Amino acid sequence: MSTSQEGRAHSGGRGPDGAGTSARTVSCAHCGRTNRVPAAAQGSPRCGNCRAPLPWIAEAGDADFGEIAEQASLPVLVDLWATWCGPCRMVSPALEQVAERLAGRIKLVKVDIDKSPGLARRFEVQAVPTLLILDQGRQVARQTGAAPANALRQWVDESLSASHGPAHSASRRP
Ligand SMILES: [Zn+2]
Repeated sequence: MSTSQEGRAHSGGRGPDGAGTSARTVSCAHCGRTNRVPAAAQGSPRCGNCRAPLPWIAEAGDADFGEIAEQASLPVLVDLWATWCGPCRMVSPALEQVAERLAGRIKLVKVDIDKSPGLARRFEVQAVPTLLILDQGRQVARQTGAAPANALRQWVDESLSASHGPAHSASRRP
């Protein structure tokens, strides 16, 4: 028998991680090294090469929201979105930019409300996108509807400084 299996299809080559793994690959903005960033972990992700903080972006649903969002050590920006929502498609990239700028300070967690009816009910989502900021599981800010990228950035900055003291103060509380 001389059947060759050469025709076996390559599945995308350098595609992203296969579905089902709750980790993303992220390129370090500082040194370029590719890192795997898990959806849930203690502390916050850092580059394995240069230790720079990495942006932390994850997806969560009814089953794993507690582990991924509420138990996170960083404040969490929750993006409650839907596939059929046009404005969500504009907001999501802006939020990813925020997560990159605030690497090490915030975690972005995306929730598809159609796959997560429990969370949609719990957060009383009336419209999408609905954005929340959670600090150790407690909601500290909420915004409904799309907004320009600058406005989103400003809202996140203000919400973080409101829950963690003035952003520009270098001093720590004893
Ligand atoms: Zn690096």
